[in-house]
Amino acid sequence: MPRAEETTLELDLAALEHNYNYIKSKLHPSTRLLAVVKAFAYGSDSVIIAKKLEKMDVDYLAVAYAREGMVLREAGIKTPILVLHAQPLNYSMVIKYCLEPSLYSPRVFREFLKAARAEKQKAYPVHLKFNTGLNRLGFSENDIDYIADTILDRDELKIKSIFSHLAASEDKSEESFSNDQINCFIKIAEEFTAKLRVNPFMHILNTSGILNFPEAQFQMVRTGIGLYGYGNEARFDSELLPVATLKTTISQIHYIEPNESVGYNRAFRSEGYQKTATLPLGHADGIGRQYGNGKGSVLINGKKAPIIGNVCMDMIMIDVSNIECNEGDEVILFGKGHSAETFAAGANTISYEVLSGISQRVKRVIIGT
Ligand SMILES: *Cc1c(COP(=O)(O)O)cnc(C)c1O
Repeated sequence: MPRAEETTLELDLAALEHNYNYIKSKLHPSTRLLAVVKAFAYGSDSVIIAKKLEKMDVDYLAVAYAREGMVLREAGIKTPILVLHAQPLNYSMVIKYCLEPSLYSPRVFREFLKAARAEKQKAYPVHLKFNTGLNRLGFSENDIDYIADTILDRDELKIKSIFSHLAASEDKSEESFSNDQINCFIKIAEEFTAKLRVNPFMHILNTSGILNFPEAQFQMVRTGIGLYGYGNEARFDSELLPVATLKTTISQIHYIEPNESVGYNRAFRSEGYQKTATLPLGHADGIGRQYGNGKGSVLINGKKAPIIGNVCMDMIMIDVSNIECNEGDEVILFGKGHSAETFAAGANTISYEVLSGISQRVKRVIIGT
């Protein structure tokens, strides 16, 4: 890969394939794998990532919203797509693009049934989400009778799967809570199957769930962050490869005297003679102000340089006083050699946020095809 001459998000499809195979290696041969490609595939590029996953025969894809699924269909993706949080306003779009909605409450269930009826659908695939403790989205166990009463003798919908979501699958200290969620899910599934006389497949695990609760794979698992190279734990991170590397270049170097300031609001004050570098990316590219004033560090020629002063919309300044570097040199914000998890931790956040926040202004470059 030639060095970056502008801000570039490099996407390594060979790394994606490696991560996919690593996660697969944790599954029983019969467990289906759903790849989560919501939010531009965690800030990368949903079409390119989905096409690669389709080539690797992934069983399912998931997005959060209907429009994200529409974009994949318009790009020619044929794999089933679960839409985790489609809004009733978009149910006709869901049907038009053969997307499979997650239905999570009596309200949206009624709304989707109405849409399916209006579009004269028969056995339209849907997935029912149950709340087992995250208290975010999901039917409660008490809704099973309602669901049964509503569709027992109707044929518009086919319940393909029932699922739930763990609240703290990465958290060792919440292991017993996660196990309670899994047991609650099993109980719901038994009651559901008995009352509706159907046999949908089941899934509850996300990436950390796959790694920490392998006994709860059921018939499918859902992985997002793992595919992109992060496992919420150092021992898993070391087995995975970052797909996205955010690179940029040094626009200008400044030599600062003692008691000068750098950047807006004069937030950085020099103590001695310092060398600073200005980079062509800022909070409009997804590196937020929380990374300013020493909270985030970047990598230049193998050395760490802290971000100084306030992050601007289109620029960031870094302290390179002790680093041999020149204008035009490549700078790595995160990715290979400088984990997004570590970068994010500096600003008290997680890999998910920094990855998914990289804006569409940043050029995507594909390697490792
Ligand atoms: C985003 C999401 C996932 C993926 O979680 P990871 O931790 O990235 O593997 C799985 N399931 C649901 C319901 C989600 O919203």
